[in-house]
Amino acid sequence: MKYISTRGEAQAIGFVDAVLSGLAPDGGLYVPDAWPSFSREEIAGFAGRPYAEVATEVISRFAAPAIARDDLAAMCQAAYAGFTHPCVTPLKELYPGLFLLELFHGPTLAFKDVAMQLLAQLYDHVLGLQKRTMTIVCATSGDTGGAAVEAFRGRHNVRIVALFPEGRISEVQRRFMTTAQEDNVRCVAVEGTFDDCQTILKGMFQDEVFAREVDLSGVNSINWARIAAQAVYYFTAGLALGAPHRPVSFAVPTGNFGDAFAGYVASRMGLPIERIVVATNGNDILARALQGGDYAKGAVLATQSPAMDIQISSNFERLYFEATQRGSDPTAAAFQAFAAEGRVRIPDEALAAMRQLFVGASVSEDETTRAIISTFNETGELIDPHTAVAMAAARRIGPARATTPMA
Ligand SMILES: *Cc1c(COP(=O)(O)O)cnc(C)c1O
Repeated sequence: MKYISTRGEAQAIGFVDAVLSGLAPDGGLYVPDAWPSFSREEIAGFAGRPYAEVATEVISRFAAPAIARDDLAAMCQAAYAGFTHPCVTPLKELYPGLFLLELFHGPTLAFKDVAMQLLAQLYDHVLGLQKRTMTIVCATSGDTGGAAVEAFRGRHNVRIVALFPEGRISEVQRRFMTTAQEDNVRCVAVEGTFDDCQTILKGMFQDEVFAREVDLSGVNSINWARIAAQAVYYFTAGLALGAPHRPVSFAVPTGNFGDAFAGYVASRMGLPIERIVVATNGNDILARALQGGDYAKGAVLATQSPAMDIQISSNFERLYFEATQRGSDPTAAAFQAFAAEGRVRIPDEALAAMRQLFVGASVSEDETTRAIISTFNETGELIDPHTAVAMAAARRIGPARATTPMA
């Protein structure tokens, strides 16, 4: 499998380089040059198999031939062995036909663990083969830093530096990061906001001499291995809900559009997904884009679901590329214009293509609070504000057909 840039001006590269390099040199994002897919029988054959085995099946379609299958199987095994539930990402039915996909059984309780645990295995493995070390720097508003430090601490070929805004992350998140004893971990408390942390990070990548000297790498949500790792639980959840014999739908709390795009990937690989509800908080750029075709940046609002307080959804460029029939020229033009003007008009045909799978929904702070309260009163389940955004959107919009289960 080769990887090409959404903007069409970068050389095609292999899986390992795509994972280690982050953004393509032309400013685009890497995508597979063709979508791998499973037959209905192959998908049906995943039913009842352990999570790590399904992960090996799904991810090997992206990682072959760069990563040997046995090596990948061992990495998936190791990555998910530390999860505290035997299903890794179990489903719980909260309302008739409406399920909660529990992505919090990893070591830092953040959904980011699901991808980050595997990413750390991959980095250590490929850097070991290349006899190379790298420095990963991550800016975090809380969850990503903890998950990254936990996954990468003690790894031989990687140094990890986490930048966090002092006083603006929870105490638990701070401790996940700053109590790691291993030599390869450094945490920096920045006097400022998450955006300030990101600005520092960008500056490091732009300083090419420095970046080369420390062999800088990033693990943010545009990293292809994270997307591939997240496609796995769409399969396991889909199977548990009756796929491939019936379609399934999902409602996804969305910020950078990595998780929701992983659903698109699963769908392209053959999983029958009827609908994905893209649930945003008041930072509703994606909801507006999918409703009216206007992808336009607003001011970032602070909400009770801070992991989604984002006004640039980086992975959306990948969907735009697909929705324009892999049009690298229109994609490059659109996202250069977006960088300059903060707004892009999605062409009608591309919007129609997006809307075949995705529906956008923005959820207010009040609705989020009400979803937490009503879900607790009605089911006994105490959901966090990010889940509550998806819950409110799921109950407002629902699947396309009432009989389709939704997670
Ligand atoms: C990161 C995160 C999200 C957003 O996921 P994206 O892939 O950026 O859309 C939502 N909820 C929680 C709890 C997160 O940590």
